[in-house]
Amino acid sequence: STLPVNVTVTGAAGQIGYALLFRIASGQMLGPDVPVRLKMLEIPQGVKAAEGTAMELEDCAFPLLAGIDIYDDPKVAFDGVNVGLLVGARPRGAGMERGDLLAANGGIFGPQGAAINAGAADDVRILVVGNPANTNALIASAHAPDVPADRFNAMMRLDHNRALAQVAAKTSTPVGDITKVTIWGNHSAKQHPDLTQAVIAGRPATEVIGDDAWIKDDFVPTVAKRGAAIIDARGASSAASAANAAIAHVHDWVNGTPEGDWTSVAMPSDGSYGVPAGLVSSFPAVSKGGAWEIVQGLELDDYTRAGIDTSVAELVEERDAVQELGLL
Ligand code: NDP
Repeated sequence: STLPVNVTVTGAAGQIGYALLFRIASGQMLGPDVPVRLKMLEIPQGVKAAEGTAMELEDCAFPLLAGIDIYDDPKVAFDGVNVGLLVGARPRGAGMERGDLLAANGGIFGPQGAAINAGAADDVRILVVGNPANTNALIASAHAPDVPADRFNAMMRLDHNRALAQVAAKTSTPVGDITKVTIWGNHSAKQHPDLTQAVIAGRPATEVIGDDAWIKDDFVPTVAKRGAAIIDARGASSAASAANAAIAHVHDWVNGTPEGDWTSVAMPSDGSYGVPAGLVSSFPAVSKGGAWEIVQGLELDDYTRAGIDTSVAELVEERDAVQELGLL
């Protein structure tokens, strides 16, 4: 009886796409009663592999899967999109300068933003996963002037979940007992993971951990460099955990965050916490009525303030670089 939700996934034939599509089709992202129509976007070389994934999706006979289409043209892939997961991106090649990387991604996320502007549904929500995710989201949003900027998010949820996992392991606490962890800033090694507000089973996390040196010298770098550690161990970058985080992000955006907790979301700054307005930067956020609200009024100690400032400075540099390249 409910109309299917149009979900567009870019880079659909990639590693993350493969870990993501089956979970969307099974109802884990939007809920067990919400039918979905999958629109898979790939570059022409990726279309054949996407067709193989589509065959497997069919063979799962998911009751909620109302249709699958594969495209190599963003204009059609984003027509009518309600939820867009922008996963496909240009990875940094050997010897590639940052400017080349930003330019290559501008060539992907600019046209995708324009296609979203032209064809998206009124309730569209876009989550950028492909790196550099924050700046790619900024580029896409800049090319979609008719879509409210707050509908463009970049994914911090994997960093957030990595932080939860480290705290759980350190304190032998179930993950479900840990709340109010925050990742600030950019999805990069310069992110700022923050436990100053975190609570473990009703007690301040800093008190339970009781080891400031562990937080600064172990926790923060471990979370920030976890992606590289996974590549070392697995011989490939994290895919299932990235897909899991994307599912959780969109689920909470649409359905709300649990009472008494928040999550970490990169969204256009409104100037909160001194982050320049418009930068797509990560904040503690709750979702209410289908929209994110930045958690306000947190007191920042000097260490947190400095960590945020360092990460935001990197975002400013990225923004200035894409501006110079004419990508905004
Ligand atoms: P993955 O599916 O592994 O990764 C896709 C993107 O997600 C990369 O930019 C990657 O960044 C990023 N990412 C963000 N967070 C994480 C994380 N925590 N762990 C790992 N990756 C993360 O890449 P594949 O190469 O397997 O697949 C990419 C697909 O996208 C290919 O099939 C390609 O054809 C397609 N593509 C499609 C485009 C389009 O639809 N227009 C455009 C470009 C590519 P990082 O590189 O930094 O790890």
